[in-house]
Amino acid sequence: MTARPDCSMELLKELSQAAGPPGSEGEIRGIVRRELEPAGRLTYDRLGSILCEKQGRVEHPRVVLDSHLDEVGFMVQSISNEGKLAMVPLGGWWGHVLLGQRVEVMAGGGKIPGVIGSTPPHFLAADQRDKVIGIDKMYVDVGASESSQVEALGIRLGDAVVPRTEFMKFPVPGILSGKAFDNRAGVGLMCEVLLALRGKAHPNTVIGVGSVQEEVGCRGGATSSTLSAPDVAVVLEATPADDLPGFEDRQAILGKGPQIRLFDPTAISNRRLVEKVLEVAGSCDIPLQQAVRRTGGTDAKTIHGHGAGVPTVVIGVPSRYIHTHVSLLHWDDYCAARNLVLELVLALDRETVSGLVDFSQG
Ligand SMILES: [Zn+2]
Repeated sequence: MTARPDCSMELLKELSQAAGPPGSEGEIRGIVRRELEPAGRLTYDRLGSILCEKQGRVEHPRVVLDSHLDEVGFMVQSISNEGKLAMVPLGGWWGHVLLGQRVEVMAGGGKIPGVIGSTPPHFLAADQRDKVIGIDKMYVDVGASESSQVEALGIRLGDAVVPRTEFMKFPVPGILSGKAFDNRAGVGLMCEVLLALRGKAHPNTVIGVGSVQEEVGCRGGATSSTLSAPDVAVVLEATPADDLPGFEDRQAILGKGPQIRLFDPTAISNRRLVEKVLEVAGSCDIPLQQAVRRTGGTDAKTIHGHGAGVPTVVIGVPSRYIHTHVSLLHWDDYCAARNLVLELVLALDRETVSGLVDFSQG
């Protein structure tokens, strides 16, 4: 593999700390716009996904690098007389990880800090302590004691709520901690690859996509595909790490390289494309983990079924504790994923991509 400078940790940090729940991805879209303006032609679908098209030597094949912009969050559902905010989840949350956490309400006039209120143990009966509290029973406390104070802050029904966390480098080499690595790691990788392609004569046209509303049903993956018209797609993700106490048969270990997802209930990766990724990783000495997932899903769900079908594969950076305030990933996995995707793009020429979908025999 040709030696390359590291990816930008500053970019990953900025993406991680910015707010972008489903339907309110503007901050993330703005960062992507700023980064990719010099990299290609920018367009938008009508849900808010951003596309950056960079033509190489030829118009086809069209290679889509998809990354969803959004992170799991909430929306203000109602405001009580005592000034507490009830919320509905935007994406998959487990109640255990929420109580006592910091959040921000994305109000019209700016972000308002708050916490997810929790009852002190002093007030809990023995049977209550053993239960997971439903999100419908939780509330955001912005410090108000009556609804007029909430109104004065400019908070309204439908405002988005996002986790608030500082990005951090842990003392263990390579380990980074922050919120929303799902999917700011994917967004960062998409930007890094597009930027690395500047001045390169790749044998295709690459379309980097920052899609919206993945966490609520892969909606931007569907709408952006109408514009990107992919011949082949690579979905870039932060994939849940399973190197945790009590887990066997591990398929996503921090520091062991990016992961290729062969299957999840929403999409089966194109077998020939999987072979190509394995071949590229092998020839470039890039470590790669393989996963067959019993649960989960990605934008591959809507992209692979677009039009007459799109050969699609999911490449992820293993990340512990996604869909919480504090995920962890390994910087080496992130940089290796960038190198892998870049090499893959350079290998996806017309003949290779036609071969992925030649079903006239076999
Ligand atoms: Zn994701």
